Amino acid sequence: MSSPTSPLDETRPTVGFIGLGNMGSGMTRNLQAAGFPLVVTDVRRESADELVAGGARWADTPREVAASSDLVITMLPTPKIVADVAGGADGLVAGLPDGGTWIDMSTSVPEVQAGVRAAEEGRGLHLLDAPVSGMSVGAADGMLQIFVGGEAEDIERLRPVFEAMGDPERILHVGGPGAGYAVKLMINQLWFSHLVATAEVLSVGVAAGVDLGVLRDALVASPANSTFVTRDVLSILDHGDYDEGFAIALACKDLGLSVDLARSVGMPVELSSLVEQIFRRARASYGDRAGEMTPVKLYEELLGRDLRREVHA
Ligand code: NAD
Repeated sequence: MSSPTSPLDETRPTVGFIGLGNMGSGMTRNLQAAGFPLVVTDVRRESADELVAGGARWADTPREVAASSDLVITMLPTPKIVADVAGGADGLVAGLPDGGTWIDMSTSVPEVQAGVRAAEEGRGLHLLDAPVSGMSVGAADGMLQIFVGGEAEDIERLRPVFEAMGDPERILHVGGPGAGYAVKLMINQLWFSHLVATAEVLSVGVAAGVDLGVLRDALVASPANSTFVTRDVLSILDHGDYDEGFAIALACKDLGLSVDLARSVGMPVELSSLVEQIFRRARASYGDRAGEMTPVKLYEELLGRDLRREVHA
């Protein structure tokens, strides 16, 4: 974790950052704390107030961000928005110098950067995909897991930037261009599948008369254990927290991209498709901004009670 008070460091490259939401706000705070000069933009001007007060420069367009920085990071909701921010006269690609660097840390797809690579051949641009895991709390704590697709020498060159935002032990080079996106989508797919499966068995067990805490502890001690059962489900069981730091609209976006990826490589994914539909049902029931874990509520409604463990002091 970075100290929140490190001074601006002139020897650090200037980082351009676009997308100051649940994730980008914590990531930029940590970059700033590590001494990286920042140039930032977002469609919500107010999202930069704190950073600007801390010395960051505001830019009106992605192009200006790229033209004023040594490297640019995007942390945006969807592939369409990444493409909009990258392209066009005011887009970041137009502002990158020849040989410039763009790291997309959004959960997205390779097509956008692949299109840029094809159209800008000869400019020597360095494009990396580096999506993350760790939720908004990991972004705030500078402890994200980062899955980087791209050239090994670029990743080593950029390691201090990644280390300001992520856990140094979990900054992984997972392959060439696009590999980071694929790894990230598969991680989310499996985690969301764990969530649905766990909600299902907890509800059935409780309906069958087993105490929720006893059932969860038995699962932890069993071969069916997972990180979700050990750790992540406790935010619901103990605190009724469905993680509004990650909107279900974005979770549905990720699941859609995951199923699309399977389709594009010709792999049938019956289970993934079903999990996607359950998430879409929860989004329709509870709204776009509901937390990513609200599919559990669908089961709680069927059960007729919330899944809450009695916490003993
Ligand atoms: P968010 O919606 O909170 O933030 C996105 C930011 O982008 C907002 O500040 C928004 O105003 C800005 N934005 C939207 N369109 C823009 C445009 N055209 N130009 C400039 N700025 C624009 O989303 P988030 O939760 O921070 O997620 C960002 C990315 O990270 C997504 O791809 C998401 O799937 C991924 N992700 C999120 C989490 C999480 O727990 N929130 C975890 C891992 C990965």
